[in-house]
Amino acid sequence: MTDEVRLFRKTVRQFIQKEFAPHQTRWREQHRPDAEAWTQAGGTGILLPDVPEEYGGGGGTFAHEAVVLEELAQAGVHFGASIQSIVAHYILAYGSEEQKRIWLPRMARGELVSAIAMTEPAAGSDLQGIKTTARRDGDHYVINGSKTFITNGWLAGILCLAVKTDARVVGLKGISLMIVEAKNCPGYRVGGSPEKVGMHAQDTCELFFDDVRVPASNLLGPAEGRGFSQMMERLSYERLTVGVTAVATAEQALAVTIKYVKERTAFGKPLIEFQNTRFKLAECKTEAHIGRVFLDNCIERFIAGQLDDTTTAMAKYWLTDRQCRIVDECVQLHGGYGYMMEYPIARMWADSRVQRIYAGTNEIMKELIGWSL
Ligand SMILES: Cc1cc2nc3c(=O)[nH]c(=O)nc-3n(C[C@H](O)[C@H](O)[C@H](O)COP(=O)(O)OP(=O)(O)OC[C@H]3O[C@@H](n4cnc5c(N)ncnc54)[C@H](O)[C@@H]3O)c2cc1C
Repeated sequence: MTDEVRLFRKTVRQFIQKEFAPHQTRWREQHRPDAEAWTQAGGTGILLPDVPEEYGGGGGTFAHEAVVLEELAQAGVHFGASIQSIVAHYILAYGSEEQKRIWLPRMARGELVSAIAMTEPAAGSDLQGIKTTARRDGDHYVINGSKTFITNGWLAGILCLAVKTDARVVGLKGISLMIVEAKNCPGYRVGGSPEKVGMHAQDTCELFFDDVRVPASNLLGPAEGRGFSQMMERLSYERLTVGVTAVATAEQALAVTIKYVKERTAFGKPLIEFQNTRFKLAECKTEAHIGRVFLDNCIERFIAGQLDDTTTAMAKYWLTDRQCRIVDECVQLHGGYGYMMEYPIARMWADSRVQRIYAGTNEIMKELIGWSL
């Protein structure tokens, strides 16, 4: 934390409270944010806060990114700003200078929404099973296949797409990443939004590719076959963003529950006067605090370029596991009201569950940690 980051937090908080929070019921009903929300966010400087200014970003660090994610989580707003940053960092790391200048400034302004599309109906954890192909045809690739559960899918103007460029190669070596400009793109179709357990305001879609032609220059990186190692390098960023949301949500769950148990009475006294209430909240507060210290340490190390993949996997696994546990305890302390969607704690409970599943399931995180033993 610096004064500059604190000031940025104030701007982000005011913007989210004024422009996003009042529309949450409608966003949930329509299963996505309004398209204008992206340009509004871009205009306020909350998109790509840790991308260099020369490409239209905020010129900050991951601390700025963390502030945006924390403020969204605390307000209970689902808006795929982290996916926008994730895709931007793929382009920054593997794109050509020309590609960076074409896409990043428009992404920062919110004129271009992005999605990262890896998962397929038959391949999630096991990415070597992906079946979407990109066949070279002159100076283009021709893409066929489908992707599922893609965040920002409906509104996306560009996709960072994982494809098999060499179907003959078994396993991970035949995978490449390429950018698809999705607007007015013949053969490209967005399917409906699946009915999710939580995160109803988040734009999640299926994507279909039927002979979609993409310029060969949209391949990310110098050669085909680098996609899997590029994903492994960049997934750390994504996992850290999930950890940030986990801690912020756990802290918010605690805050609303502490308030609730002071107001709600049973047997003639506030719930907080029952020893069980205090003990449960004492456990939750301790775990949230440990999570915060661990996360802050990860962020510092990430900014210094010293965060290893094993520790990132630990953070993603442990912080999301604790998030779910803390939120669940907080639901219990709300009694029946904790099961009612009009109460923020109920939405937090439904929204939290997926944190243990996406960005690599927590079982896959344990595999990664296991490799280091
Ligand atoms: C709301 C939401 C948003 C998402 N957003 C995106 C997105 O933007 N882009 C994208 O590409 N994907 C996205 N995903 C997909 C997500 O990343 C996958 O769902 C996730 O990686 C798990 O893959 P799967 O669903 O195919 O489950 P599977 O891989 O079939 O796993 C099923 C179970 O088997 C376990 N398992 C699998 N392999 C092993 C193993 N080796 N050892 C032990 N256990 C194992 C898993 O841990 C899990 O418990 C999203 C998913 C959701 C629900």
